[in-house]
Amino acid sequence: MNRQQFLLSLVAFPVFAKLPVEIDIDVLTGQTPPALRFGLQKEASKSFEAMKKEAAKEKIKLHITSGYRSYNKQIEIWNGKYDRYSAKGLKGLELIRKITEFSAMPGTSRHHWGTDADILDISVLQPKNPLEQSHYISSKGVYNRLNEWMKHNAARFDFYEAYTDDPTRKGYEFEPWHFSYKPLAVNYLKNYNKKIKLSYIKLPQLRGKEFLTESFFNEYKRDYVNGLNPYLQ
Ligand SMILES: [Zn+2]
Repeated sequence: MNRQQFLLSLVAFPVFAKLPVEIDIDVLTGQTPPALRFGLQKEASKSFEAMKKEAAKEKIKLHITSGYRSYNKQIEIWNGKYDRYSAKGLKGLELIRKITEFSAMPGTSRHHWGTDADILDISVLQPKNPLEQSHYISSKGVYNRLNEWMKHNAARFDFYEAYTDDPTRKGYEFEPWHFSYKPLAVNYLKNYNKKIKLSYIKLPQLRGKEFLTESFFNEYKRDYVNGLNPYLQ
């Protein structure tokens, strides 16, 4: 790089800008955990704790029901659903698409990153299946106050809903419980899109792997991994 290019690079990349950090493939795919504190990376966890304090003033008790999740844990979820839907007669890609309404293919979940959390309010009587849309969006839902509070306040703590109710968004169904800590998650997504190939995540124990072709995976990455709230892209 000559002097002029060097000076130009300073303009393009001011020293105070956050440099993109390289993330390992094993971390991106949940095969090695990042450093964690209460199920999130430290920076995200601190911000969550601050948000929790603020919510407590409104008598809402924020609780992470699912933060970091390993590749192996995601395989358990995936294989469990695979067997259940298969027993109901679903097959091949139809079965895969049924699982991916709400569950990520192992190695593609944002829960692998320590940046994302499914959030409940434990100040209320807990329903049997907490992660259902109606609990959040129906005016009589047990988490409706939580939902309203998060809508107005989560962004102040850099948490954003990942899978919104925007009808033009593709991929997973609307998940009003799933939030991402933006300052870390955006870089994880960038790394993910640059580095992850199907062969890294298609491991022997994954049920239905014979249906997971390259073309399926490319479409999946576009519509599911990137089918997100634009604030997180
Ligand atoms: Zn989630």
